[in-house]
Amino acid sequence: MTIFNLGSINADFTYQVPHLLRAGETLAASSLTRGLGGKGANMSVAIARGAGRVQHIGAVGEEGAWATLRLLEYGVDTRHIATVPEATGHAIISVDPAGENNILIFPGANACISSEMLGRALSAAHTGDWLIMQNETNCLEEAAHMARQLGLRVAYAAAPFVAEDAAKIAPLCELMFLNQIEAQQLSETLGIQFEKLGIKDIIVTLGADGCDWYHNGTPTRIAGYPAKVIDTTGAGDTFTGYVMAGLDRGLPMAQAIDLAQQAAALMVGRLGTADVIPDLKEVTEARL
Ligand code: ADP
Repeated sequence: MTIFNLGSINADFTYQVPHLLRAGETLAASSLTRGLGGKGANMSVAIARGAGRVQHIGAVGEEGAWATLRLLEYGVDTRHIATVPEATGHAIISVDPAGENNILIFPGANACISSEMLGRALSAAHTGDWLIMQNETNCLEEAAHMARQLGLRVAYAAAPFVAEDAAKIAPLCELMFLNQIEAQQLSETLGIQFEKLGIKDIIVTLGADGCDWYHNGTPTRIAGYPAKVIDTTGAGDTFTGYVMAGLDRGLPMAQAIDLAQQAAALMVGRLGTADVIPDLKEVTEARL
């Protein structure tokens, strides 16, 4: 089985700041960490580090070859990452001493996905493969329809939340990842409780409290693992990638979720994004 991940690739600039910026304020950061990020890239790395098979579908600018190479080094199949005449996407992330963050994103190349790129990538897929998407690239609806026609299963992490995208994609997927706020936004957008949408599996992450797994609308609370919070950026992406990797390795959902929560708990104790996602060996040896 292969997981096709249609997702963003960003250069992340993570600054530690004494407090989050207020309007009109100028503030000096105490440190800068540069690295690979973007929800898409984070999830691809998490899938690969969790021992799943992943082909990333995405785009970078001409100066973004380093990002593709980094993904390749982490075990991601990069044959469907195009180089386009736009700037590589990037994110400016501020993290305060409590681990709270705010993020400014420039989509750049991530908004340059074409039907041809999707067609080329998915023509290599087999029935039963997965397509996973987030909300940081274009062509989401087209990709979901194409995937379903080809017999793929569609998973969707509705983040960052975009109401029009969520309304269109939710009915096309069988596995959905939401945090608490996104779950509420989805219910409000569609005017129906999200668990009544008829989606086979929905996982709502609850930060330190773990997550709720809705299987055919019936919820089960699954506790998380204790963690010392340094930076919560990337925790959700690590969680999602690890769930997908677990499913790819044939684990039952509850076990895939448990492993994902261990990986995410390690992740909140680290500063940075894709470059610091723990691998399966680290997760199992951590014995949380
Ligand atoms: P997002 O970052 O997408 O908003 P959450 O904050 O809900 O997602 O976190 C995703 C997962 O990461 C949680 O389900 C949990 O397993 C883990 N996690 C997040 N914050 C903590 C924390 N403070 N302590 C332990 N685990 C956490």
